[in-house]
Amino acid sequence: MSSYEVNLTKENIPYMQHGDHHILIIEDEQPIRRFLRASLTNEGYRVTEAETGEDGLRIAARQPPDLVILDLGLPDLDGQEVLRRLREWLTAPVIILSVRDQEQQKIDALDHGADDYVTKPFGIGELLARMRTALRHAHTIAPTSSTISIGELRVDLSARLVYRQDEEIHLTPLEYKLVVTMLKHSGKVLTHRFLLKEVWGPHDTHETHYLRVFVASLRRKLEDDPARPRYILTEQGVGYRFAAE
Ligand code: CA
Repeated sequence: MSSYEVNLTKENIPYMQHGDHHILIIEDEQPIRRFLRASLTNEGYRVTEAETGEDGLRIAARQPPDLVILDLGLPDLDGQEVLRRLREWLTAPVIILSVRDQEQQKIDALDHGADDYVTKPFGIGELLARMRTALRHAHTIAPTSSTISIGELRVDLSARLVYRQDEEIHLTPLEYKLVVTMLKHSGKVLTHRFLLKEVWGPHDTHETHYLRVFVASLRRKLEDDPARPRYILTEQGVGYRFAAE
């Protein structure tokens, strides 16, 4: 999709919707940087670019970004190292650019504080959607009330009750813990390892079949059509994502 087409989509109007969000692109391939700068500037984002990991870290420290787009394959530092050093102080979302044979690297990055990823070659529409979700999420991390609502679902955190279209859904304690963990990070890709650690504890992080069983059960209880889930989305080979809206 060209940037011209992107600019015509309804949700990108008005132009100033993104305010003055500063996006830092850390990517060594110039054609990709140029394409990203053109597309993001066109969307009203303020863009800075870094060609190396060291440059990226320096620019981030000088002008803290609202979101970072980070390539994992950089000429000087490993992208994982850049992520680790950014995460020592930066809370802004980080979206990873990975290539198809970097599955494990992508998962490691998500486990170490990246918020999302796109796989090269990526569509700009997909990247823009993920950026919007990540930026929205960055401003709503802490629930402002004891109730979270997404679509037809409502979770009363103080009473530990889940409703679908105002009807109470019975969940087991582990199902409840899993759905609340996903809801609190809605929109973000959550790896198998992260979910297992959060829900089952640090010793069971390889037991991905636990997750499959519990996700299947949750989908039966929460989704209209468990085979075509609307809330609990599968990220193939990586984990799950709870739809943000
Ligand atoms: Ca690269």
